[in-house]
Amino acid sequence: MRIGILAVQGAFIEHEKILTSLGHECVELRQKSDITNIDGLVLPGGESTVQGKLLRDLDMFDDIKARIDDGIPVLATCAGLILLSEKISNDANTYFATLPVTVKRNAYGRQLGSFEQVADFAGIGPVKMTFIRAPYIEKANDNVNILATIDGNIVATKYKNQIGLAFHPELGDDIRIHQMFCDLM
Ligand code: GLN
Repeated sequence: MRIGILAVQGAFIEHEKILTSLGHECVELRQKSDITNIDGLVLPGGESTVQGKLLRDLDMFDDIKARIDDGIPVLATCAGLILLSEKISNDANTYFATLPVTVKRNAYGRQLGSFEQVADFAGIGPVKMTFIRAPYIEKANDNVNILATIDGNIVATKYKNQIGLAFHPELGDDIRIHQMFCDLM
């Protein structure tokens, strides 16, 4: 499969390494013309405001949104989850707004908000999750599958073609979540 990895800003290299090791071809999406013939899409962590602005400035936004609306499998982590969310409770912006959840940015605090925690992930089992100035999901529509929670806050969801994670599955050597995304493709 050929996977497009948004590469305008943020932590895309680690996703690329894992997905390449799983036998897939990865294409870094840096400009509009890169968005062709992809079977899957990764929206990595980073800074959602910067990514959102670059997507507009580089005229990539509408093409990527159209692919998501068309049903391309998406793996979105951290800032990527914010880009997908229909609502951001502490920010007036929204971006693709294709995932019917309300997310809170920097929900664990901006400076000291980085930590690791093991939690159960539906269909996989205990997973060590790395959070970096992470959001969490405050509210999800009834038709959204909740895959993991920590202290009552939602940190992993699946809705149709979209997997949205508050944490960074690309850090460390656990490939099971990427495998799940590959199975979606
Ligand atoms: N705090 C970032 C944001 O609001 C997300 C952090 C991350 O992707 N690790 O966009």
